[in-house]
Amino acid sequence: MTDRVIPLLDVRTATLAPPPLELLGATETPDGLVADRRSRPLRDLRISVTDRCNFRCTYCMPKEVFDKNYHFLPHGDLLSFEEITRVTRLFVAHGVEKIRLTGGEPLLRKNVERLIEMLSRLHTPQGKPLDLTLTTNGSILSRKAQSLADAGLRRITVSLDALDDAVFRAMNDVDFPVSSVLEGIEAARAAGLTPVKVNMVVKRGVNDHQIVPMARHFHGSGHILRFIEFMDVGASNGWRMDDVVPSADVVTRINAELPLENADPNYRGEVAERWRYRDGGGEIGVISSVTQAFCADCTRARLSTEGKLYLCLFAQQGYDLRTLLRTQATDAQIAGAIGRIWRGRGDRYSELRSAATVGIKKIEMSYIGG
Ligand code: SAM
Ligand code: SF4
Ligand code: SF4
Repeated sequence: MTDRVIPLLDVRTATLAPPPLELLGATETPDGLVADRRSRPLRDLRISVTDRCNFRCTYCMPKEVFDKNYHFLPHGDLLSFEEITRVTRLFVAHGVEKIRLTGGEPLLRKNVERLIEMLSRLHTPQGKPLDLTLTTNGSILSRKAQSLADAGLRRITVSLDALDDAVFRAMNDVDFPVSSVLEGIEAARAAGLTPVKVNMVVKRGVNDHQIVPMARHFHGSGHILRFIEFMDVGASNGWRMDDVVPSADVVTRINAELPLENADPNYRGEVAERWRYRDGGGEIGVISSVTQAFCADCTRARLSTEGKLYLCLFAQQGYDLRTLLRTQATDAQIAGAIGRIWRGRGDRYSELRSAATVGIKKIEMSYIGG
């Protein structure tokens, strides 16, 4: 028996958002200063380049939902690299400085290196290169790391939920061995995609016994291990508050074995809280998306695989930029649409999360990107 909620409504196609052409209004020359209703600027853009994945992580793409009958997007529905680059340039003009490619599994998008090359040529209005990074499950990273770096990728984040091979194989649910991901992480280091960040989603009773072994493994390695609280994203992962191990507990458990001290954030609004090993063995981060909402500083927009703009990871509706890109809309019109959408943003789901919000149908993480 399973108590998972199977989505009845495909939220990718739900028509809650205004029809795309209604987004066209006044043209705009962005000044890099756009802010939303809560005075949050637009600084980060996460771009999902595919909704497909070769893993079936139980908390993200459970096999029972994402099976052979699941309707993944056909290729023609995806934004092309030219479309992604065009719209990214407009986001950058509005203030975006940091781009993260995600998915699904972004390394499965054919020729993703070409997209990286195109994006790496963009600059902020002040002439700075973008902070261009990517989140991957690491499964094919050992053969891709060098070509990604050559294409202009600057850093990389690898997801790894356990060091124990049996636990890892059960979590990715496709029997993928941990050794191949560890090889990918070392290949990323060798290619200069550093510091490599390693993200571990912690789910109570599933992999929380791996917290300390993971910390020990990466202690002194130069890689930055980050622990993420399991979130109620999407509609298919059967989330319950009991499954969440609060970051404070993660820190307590590691501190008992490898003493830690708090470190200052690198910049205002940094999502991960930093902790440093007292013996000089590097640092870890904890991302407390559930127990300590960081919506007040959330400057992230998300572009889905098929070109919808989402203002929050937990949003129920997206704004269809693809139609604008595929009609005769000018850059100034699309920039005007992006500006108006961002100025209207009031999202702060994690501050409002409650038993009542958990069941709301939200967009899947594999489609919107993490
Ligand atoms: N496939 C790539 C990967 O796994 O790194 C990129 C996409 S994945 C959706 C991005 C990140 O979201 C991963 O680090 C993953 O562990 C995290 N994630 C997925 N579902 C999550 C959930 N329910 N709670 C917290 N993090 C989640
Ligand atoms: Fe795939 Fe990443 Fe989701 Fe795992 S977390 S199923 S690797 S998209
Ligand atoms: Fe940002 Fe939404 Fe997450 Fe809050 S819940 S931090 S607004 S993505």
